Amino acid sequence: MGTVEAATKQAIESTLAQKKPKVVFVLGGPGSGKGTQCANIVEHFGYTHLSAGDLLRAEIKSGSENGTMIQNMIKEGKIVPSEVTIKLLEKAILENENDKFLIDGFPRNEENRAAFEAVTGISPEFVLFFDCPEEEMEKRLLGRNQGREDDNIDTIRKRFKVFLESSLPVIEYYNSKGKVRKIDAAKPVGEVFEAVKALFTPVDEKAAA
Ligand code: UDP
Ligand code: MG
Repeated sequence: MGTVEAATKQAIESTLAQKKPKVVFVLGGPGSGKGTQCANIVEHFGYTHLSAGDLLRAEIKSGSENGTMIQNMIKEGKIVPSEVTIKLLEKAILENENDKFLIDGFPRNEENRAAFEAVTGISPEFVLFFDCPEEEMEKRLLGRNQGREDDNIDTIRKRFKVFLESSLPVIEYYNSKGKVRKIDAAKPVGEVFEAVKALFTPVDEKAAA
């Protein structure tokens, strides 16, 4: 690493450490409803939504030097190298005045998780886990038509495999730390949000209600 690069890295770390943002990781298989429910949480609870997948797709569109590599990995359902995704997340957190963030679709494997904690010093307040059967997720992905190159049956099968093999262990790790709040995500959107709302409403407000 060059001197300038090292200095920049240090500057990012110190500002993030000063900022001490509150982070909730939103995890679940592809098509489990993370993006939909994050939009609801933003509206009701004042968080800023950062979708790791959306940040990566924006990076492809921006014509960055990593664009082609990212595009190829997404097409194959593979996990983009941690340093790329973490840099995008750090930048997004620092550019935003808010101090409460929903990080959706990240960390996707143990390496993502460990690298994020090591680089940013941030550990999540809790992990919101959308639990959904594969057949329901498959139905949603094939029906949603958002023009995504990875919403075809071949890539969907690969994404499911990566989720089971690499992402579930992250949820298990946080579960062992007592940090996972699990939601039954197979229900209709409104019902799922009722369950989500209960998890985000502070205990004192619930008592007053
Ligand atoms: N992706 C990644 N790292 C991340 C988030 C996303 O590599 O932290 C890639 C990965 O290839 C994934 C794709 O982006 O399959 C789409 O992710 P997104 O979260 O948008 O969709 P999901 O699979 O959760 O529906
Ligand atoms: Mg998404």
